[in-house]
Amino acid sequence: MINLTIEEIISKLVSNSGLTEAEIKTKIQQKMESLSGLISEGGAGHIVANELGVQLFQISGGIVKVKDIRDGMRNVDVIGRVSNKFDVREFTSGARHGKVGSFTIEDETGAIRLTAWNDITHKMQEFNVGDIVKIKSSYVRLNNNGFRELHLNDKSNISINPPGVDVGERKTESKKIGELSENDNFVELLCHVVNVFDPAFFEQCPTCKKRVSQDMGKYVCGEHGEVEPLYSHVVNLLLDDGSGTMRASCWREVADSLFGSLEVIQTAPDMFDSMKNEVLGSIFRFRGTVKKNSMTGNLELNVREAKKEHINLSSDVSSERDTGESRNEEKQAVQEEDVLEENVF
Ligand SMILES: [Zn+2]
Repeated sequence: MINLTIEEIISKLVSNSGLTEAEIKTKIQQKMESLSGLISEGGAGHIVANELGVQLFQISGGIVKVKDIRDGMRNVDVIGRVSNKFDVREFTSGARHGKVGSFTIEDETGAIRLTAWNDITHKMQEFNVGDIVKIKSSYVRLNNNGFRELHLNDKSNISINPPGVDVGERKTESKKIGELSENDNFVELLCHVVNVFDPAFFEQCPTCKKRVSQDMGKYVCGEHGEVEPLYSHVVNLLLDDGSGTMRASCWREVADSLFGSLEVIQTAPDMFDSMKNEVLGSIFRFRGTVKKNSMTGNLELNVREAKKEHINLSSDVSSERDTGESRNEEKQAVQEEDVLEENVF
């Protein structure tokens, strides 16, 4: 089932039918009335689209823009620039053994994570961050956090830097922490890192990425049984740009890009003190997605990219560093580990 909101349906109809928004809305209302209220506004929107000959989404064939990717879509073709590439890993899950790798791409309209399964992971060796890839026959899956991902299997195909194909820059919105809302999918923030929390290391199921529990030396996923786990880690930060503070999560590769490889911390936790000094109190340009923490109700940033900036923000930000009672409360809230679910978006 492909879900479009009524706003999305109306905007598609306006841009593809030549009718005004008011005319479209009237048509939808009339359709609902003619069906004696037996149909939702969205359902009526689909019927009106049919009558007007407007395709609301492409089931197959043709390139889809990232922002138009919807739950349930299959045979999705998409073109984007590779913005992240993660390691390919082998996994064993019950009797199943295979390989899984993931990467992210962006076009002008958005970014999406792709997960490649088994043989097509070989293709990931042939491209790098910055290359343009054309993906054929992928399908949409929701990850554990409700974010859409594209999956690639043996029927999928990846062409690298196809001739004559270009992808525009993704538009990122620069915002202040105080202006953020839950709907900010992808933002750029310029802020101080006012606190760095100790890394958390954990084992996750290679298939569903949930945390696994350890039982007599074996790793067990609630859903997939005994598995060969993937090792991951996360470092949480507290950011401040003068307009507010927010917590940010840096997963695995992103955390390593900020601090250096964190594997060593597992055996020598004291080393983190010197590693974090490079980050604490410095100004970074963060790009990432905003997400509401369902437990605290606070907005958090899921960091995808962090770049150190050698500039000064207004002085009132840095002087606030680590003082005041509210900060301490916040610190405590952050330390409660409720973060161990990974999402790269
Ligand atoms: Zn699992």
